[in-house]
Order: sequence, then C-alpha cells, then structure tokens
Amino acid sequence: MSNLMFYSTNGSPERVDFREALLSGQAPDMGLYMPEEIPRIGTEEIVRFSKMRYPEIAYRVVGPYIGDLIPKEDLVSILEDAYNFDVPIERVFDRAHIMRLDRGPTCSFKDFAARLMGRLVQYFLEREGRSVIILTATSGDTGSAVAHAFYGLSNVQVVVLYPRDEVTERQRKQMTTLGGNVHALAVDGKFDDCQALVKRAFADPELRDLNLSSANSINVGRLLPQAVYYFYAYSRISEGEEIVISVPSGNFGNLMGGLIAMRMGLPVRRFVVATNENDEFPVFMRTGIYKPIRPSRNCISNAMNVGHPSNLARVFALYGGWLDEKGEVRREPDLDAMRRDMFAVSVSDDETRKTIKEVYERYRVLLEPHGAVGWAGLMRYFEEVERWEPTVSLETADPAKFPEEIIRVLGVTPPLPRAMAELDSLEEHIKEISGSYESLKSYLRGLR
Ligand SMILES: *Cc1c(COP(=O)(O)O)cnc(C)c1O
Repeated sequence: MSNLMFYSTNGSPERVDFREALLSGQAPDMGLYMPEEIPRIGTEEIVRFSKMRYPEIAYRVVGPYIGDLIPKEDLVSILEDAYNFDVPIERVFDRAHIMRLDRGPTCSFKDFAARLMGRLVQYFLEREGRSVIILTATSGDTGSAVAHAFYGLSNVQVVVLYPRDEVTERQRKQMTTLGGNVHALAVDGKFDDCQALVKRAFADPELRDLNLSSANSINVGRLLPQAVYYFYAYSRISEGEEIVISVPSGNFGNLMGGLIAMRMGLPVRRFVVATNENDEFPVFMRTGIYKPIRPSRNCISNAMNVGHPSNLARVFALYGGWLDEKGEVRREPDLDAMRRDMFAVSVSDDETRKTIKEVYERYRVLLEPHGAVGWAGLMRYFEEVERWEPTVSLETADPAKFPEEIIRVLGVTPPLPRAMAELDSLEEHIKEISGSYESLKSYLRGLR
C-alpha cells in the first residue's frame, strides 16, 4: 500500500507523507498541507458507526491518512488514550441538538485535535530520538489545549504566544500554571499579531536549527482529528437522513474538518458557518470579494476574533481556488459550490447575548458565547432558508470558561468542571514580550 500524500495550498510541486506534514506544520512555500486525495467511507459503513465508540470511529476516519506509518495496534491505543472522555449530545427541541465538545482536560473542543496531535508527534519523535520546539499562537483555547497535550513530554518544549489583554483569566491560567516544558508568553498585541510573529519565526532561516514546529490549526495533525466528531454526531442523531451542522468559526479549522468529513462521504445537507462580528467570510460568500479584517474586532466569543482565518486557504483549495498566506485571492474558488455546501452568517455580540438568554430560559440549556454564535446561526438558517431535521450545533467550550458573560446575561454562575476547579490555587509562570519580532527571537534562542 502506498501512503496518502499531502500537497501545499501555495502550489509547490513537492509532496509529503503524513509524518512529514505533521512534524513540519507549514509547507516550505508558506502554504498549508492538504491531502492529495480524500478517502471515501461508504454510506453502509457510516451507518454502522452508530454501534461504535468514539475512538473506534476515529480509527476509521483518521487511519487512511496515516496509512502504514503507524501500525494498527499502536494507532488504536493512541486513540483510546486520547479520547477517554464523554461527547454528550443534548436535544434542545424536536430533532435539533447541541453536541458538547468541552469534556476534555481544558474544556474546549481544541482538546480533540491537540490530544491526538500531541500523541502522534511524541510517537514519531521518540522513535527517531529527535526533539522540537512547538511554537503556537492562541486567541485563548488553543494554547491551553496544546500546552496540556504536550506537557511533560521529554522531546518537546512548548512556547505559547497569547494576546495579553484578550484572554480570560481562566484561559490564561490553563496555560500559565503548568510550568516545566510549557512556556507562556504574554504579547502586547492582538491574536493576529501573535500569529504573525509565529509565522515569521517559521520562515526565519536563522532559527532553522531550533527545529520549530507548529501546533496551530494549520497543522494537519490538528485538522484531521476534527473530522471525526462530525461522523460521531451523524451516527448518533441521524437515521440515514442528511444532517445540517452549525459550526461557530474563527480560524476555520473546525469547519475544515467538517468539510473533509463531507468529502469523505458524510451525508451533510449543509454547514452553517457562524462567525462573530469578524464577518470577512460571510461577506465573501455574499459578494465574492475577500477582504481580511485588520485589526480583528473584539467580540465576547474571543476565540473567534480572527480577521484572516488561516484555514480559509484550505477551504479555497477544496473548491478549486487559491488564497495565499497574505490573504490575496490568486485563483477564484467555485463560489456556487461553496454556497451549496455552506450558509455563512455573522452574529453580533448583542445577538449572542440574547441567544444565551433565550436558550436558557426556554430550554434550560446553558450555552457560552461561542456555542451561542453557532446556535444563533442555526436559527438564522431556519428563518432564511429552510427548517431541517436532524440538526446539530457545536458547543465548543464549557460555559465555566466564560463566566463573566454568563453571569452578566443570566445572573447564573456556571458550574465549575473538576478540570478547572483547581486552577485558582496554582502558581502562574508568565513572561511578557513586546509585539516585536526581535523579542520573540531572543527568547527562543535562550531556550536552547
Ligand atoms: C478556537 C475556538 C473556536 C473557533 O474554532 P476554529 O477552528 O478556529 O474556527 C470556537 N470556539 C471555541 C471555544 C474555540 O476555542
């Protein structure tokens, strides 16, 4: 069997296997890796997923991309170990559901991707006797998920850059209280500044000897695990009908996982792509004109404050287009096909708060701001397009991660999950850096 290969969205002719794409993160031409072909899973097999547990479904979905690079029994045990928590699906009304992707150790959906990626990276590095520095930018939840996924691994140092004034206290503490091989850098700037610093470090030939690697949502090791829960949702709520899925989106990694699931054969009627006031994608879908928002707008769903989503390059590639790393459209994608598959909507902060209130008062279902953006998007779809059953809207974080907004809107304090209860008593380790590239560079050099 020959393994599936990955190409770069920026068009260089080079092809790499999963291991190489995982360990290098970004392609040398600054593009993002995409699978050269997308393996199909037949409908009959998808129907059988209803009797399978989450890690078993994960093996069927992710396995074909890894091929024989990892023996089956090793991959199975990695998946069992990574997905040892619940994935609850709650009915809200009729056949409209939310799926809670917040039961991992850092209480956001990013645990799904980070936990598998961390274990895969460790698997390869250990066998090869190599070490890397994982460098990642976060708008809040990636950093903690990645930090926890890599914490304590001997072959890895983790450096997380976060915007100093744009993460909540709990988000920050999940990154800063680990210590050890986890280094949290508070940047005087926005998420987009953090991301720009990280990208520049990856492109810097003077840092090549550091073996920098990315754990951002651009890494295929983060992307592919995010296709799994779409199959899981389908297997639990559909009896063979197509489903509608609403995805609260920022950097579009989550959505991209869903689009891959659809190309693999998952019967999806349509994706609702719900953004906050950073509406560059909904505007593009309406007008065909793509314009990054700089600087990004500050909304209460802070993990989605992204003015130029990096995974959009992959979405474009999937529809035959080319969006380069600067946000310029080099080749138009098939906009009609995109509109058939996706309904994009922007949700304001006011509407987000109103949704948290309504859903709680009507159904006693507690949503946090990101999940509320997804739910509001789904309701908009029902109003403007068609009522559809069955549906699922993704809840991407535990409400206790965003207590400030929920207390303000509902006067209710969200119950603290055990994973977060201990945070307040732990010591923080924070290093502040200015937004300048030189300060990051000298910090990284000092790690050696
Ligand atoms: C990261 C994040 C999102 C956005 O996901 P993308 O893959 O970046 O689109 C949504 N909600 C929460 C809670 C997040 O942490």
